[in-house]
Amino acid sequence: MATRAKALYIVLLGGPGAGKGTQAELLSKALGIPQVSTGDLFRENLKDETELGLLAKGYMERGELVPDSITIAMVRERLARPDCEAGAILDGFPRTVAQAEALEALLTELGSRLKVVPYIKVSEEVLLSRLAGRWTCRNCGAMYHQLFSPPRQPGVCDKCGGELYQRADDTPETQRHRIQVYFEQTAPLIDYYREKGLLVEVDGQRSISEVQAELLRIIADDRRR
Ligand code: ADP
Ligand code: AMP
Repeated sequence: MATRAKALYIVLLGGPGAGKGTQAELLSKALGIPQVSTGDLFRENLKDETELGLLAKGYMERGELVPDSITIAMVRERLARPDCEAGAILDGFPRTVAQAEALEALLTELGSRLKVVPYIKVSEEVLLSRLAGRWTCRNCGAMYHQLFSPPRQPGVCDKCGGELYQRADDTPETQRHRIQVYFEQTAPLIDYYREKGLLVEVDGQRSISEVQAELLRIIADDRRR
């Protein structure tokens, strides 16, 4: 594989509902590199009823993590594609220390490394309120919140006119379980990346545009180094 020494790989850390997907989509547009969301990749596979989708289904419905081996193989395949040669915004991956180690090994193989890991910090109470009001476009994946960023017309996507839906794993019970899984398995990555000198904390309890501006500033600072 060609070397990717100048590529820009960024991991967005944060709990479920912190705004990773919202910010990754905006960053992807601003920086011209793809958003790689493992949640979206699993949901596409589920919709297409692929073998991978069927493997992931039960874990997703229960709000548990899909096993590392399956997730890592999917990301390896995705990052190897040519559209990730200039970099990628990783959203929802890694979620365990084993995934973080696999990512490091994979980027080394590709002749690159992680540049920065913004941690979008949001309280548990706000995470729950964000998940409870989340609506997604079935057609283009655009994200809305019924209170914080509502569509112009309820149930209809502003961007493409598609139908908005609430994710099957956004029921109150599954939301609480996903947050618990996050604290047990993913939150340790905060210290993991802090020790590597890659972590930058971002206050996620501000408007979408304020968080976006800060993320762009952090990435620009990092690029100058
Ligand atoms: P994640 O990908 O981290 O699970 P999302 O990007 O899906 O989170 O955001 C969860 C919900 O919160 C969505 O409905 C989104 O519109 C809303 N949201 C995201 N960022 C903010 C913000 N800064 N302020 C208010 N609502 C937000
Ligand atoms: P998300 O869209 O990021 O909220 O992810 C939705 C669901 O997909 C999660 O609750 C997990 O079941 C699964 N998933 C997404 N990313 C990962 C990952 N990195 N490791 C394991 N499971 C994942």
